[in-house]
Amino acid sequence: MTIDGLCVEATDTYDVINPATTDVFAQAPQATEDQLDAAVAAAQRAFLTWRETDVAVRREVMVACAVRMRAHADELIDWLVREQGKPFVVAQGEVMGSARWMEFTAGLPLPGEVVEVDGVKVGEVRRKPYGVVGAIVPWNYPLISAVWKIAPALLTGNTVVLKPSPFTPLATLRLGELLLDLLPPGVLNIISATDDLAPAMTAHSGIRKLTFTGSTATGKKVFAAAAEHIKGVTLELGGNDPAIVLADVDVADTAQKIFAAAFANSGQVCSAIKRVYVHADIHDALVVELASLAGKAVIGSGLDETVTVGPLSTQAQFDKVLDLMNDAAEQGGVFAAGAPEAVDRPGYFIAPAIITGLPDTARLVTEEQFGPALPILSFTHIDEVVSRANDTPYGLSASVWSIDIEAAVSVASRIDAGTVWVNQHMKPRPQLPTAGVKASGVGAENGAWGLESFLQIQTIAVA
Ligand code: NAD
Repeated sequence: MTIDGLCVEATDTYDVINPATTDVFAQAPQATEDQLDAAVAAAQRAFLTWRETDVAVRREVMVACAVRMRAHADELIDWLVREQGKPFVVAQGEVMGSARWMEFTAGLPLPGEVVEVDGVKVGEVRRKPYGVVGAIVPWNYPLISAVWKIAPALLTGNTVVLKPSPFTPLATLRLGELLLDLLPPGVLNIISATDDLAPAMTAHSGIRKLTFTGSTATGKKVFAAAAEHIKGVTLELGGNDPAIVLADVDVADTAQKIFAAAFANSGQVCSAIKRVYVHADIHDALVVELASLAGKAVIGSGLDETVTVGPLSTQAQFDKVLDLMNDAAEQGGVFAAGAPEAVDRPGYFIAPAIITGLPDTARLVTEEQFGPALPILSFTHIDEVVSRANDTPYGLSASVWSIDIEAAVSVASRIDAGTVWVNQHMKPRPQLPTAGVKASGVGAENGAWGLESFLQIQTIAVA
């Protein structure tokens, strides 16, 4: 672990499993509450100087961090594939994306305004860092989820205590080690532990801001802890993204893009397409194309660079997806590709499945499957499909597909989601905010809007 600028060991460890084999392949450190306290205390001390450090220096340090990540991309990719199961190219995209995000964020202007009334200055609105930020991230994109928090925290003068998911701690722990000589001691602390340490972290009086990415269920606990201690909070939570496909699209081209956005990382992406609503006129044609793409998937360990679909990441996720698929079969779902069963090989593998004929009430439609099983539903009227797409507690992202951009944007504006893409899906950019509405989150990450999440307002008004 990285605590106060040092590599720190733990007395206890826990198993890390390779989901492509189910073998225990590493031991990760189990931080104690004393080590959590030490990390927070180090971050508090470091904050006193980091907040005063010239922002130009902070930017330089961040760029150096990005360069270091790229220089060690190979080993970070290897850790990510082994601990998370993702295909090599997906891990490569995650590592390179992390470096790009760090570098881009380093160049963002810091906000601040002068307010005038009738041409006379009445005040200045400044932004202040919170202090110690507690960052908690999930297992599906461990490294980039962490960087989405570390980068804006560092630029804005906050210091960080970060805890990765216990399922995927290794690439992130290695990142802490790699950045040790670039950052002043205590500015970035990375501790690893099973879930039991998390409540002590969210309740810690030395942490002033919580930034959390993970499930809505856990997000509620984080929100409650933030309320108890009046901490700042940003929550990036679950989703059940709809894709709405109008009748005028090029079916083969749209199918390819939808397949990519539904099955990337075996569907384990917060903003993966999780339900497709397709106009009845092209429903069957789209299903044929999607099923054909599913049939071409190369399933296996992500270490094999030809593999396109890796395993589910955890036993729990594997069981959950199979349960939803079995329920879909019982609900009358027809499997145009795949089947409600595991692939016959070691590891948590499920082949990509395309399922039609489900009622809107099927659990595979209403719940976040977070796996390679995609329900395809038919519609005829826009009003009807907008209402069905919005009939969910979630509001993370969505997409609308049509050659008529005006029509697509008009539908997009009626969807209750933080991001609605047109003719693309799951295309985050460091320049644009990522923000969930409804049960998908509170606050935003990325771009200028993400920086605001790490800053508090201070008004200076002189008589
Ligand atoms: P999770 O909620 O189970 O775990 C996330 C993190 O919370 C882990 O680090 C875990 O150790 C920690 N945690 C566990 N108990 C806690 C507690 N009581 N208090 C504080 N933290 C606690 O989520 P997961 O299964 O790792 O990730 C999958 C979920 O994350 C999906 O729902 C997915 O949609 C969501 N997600 C959202 C986004 C987004 O940007 N909106 C991105 C990626 C994943």
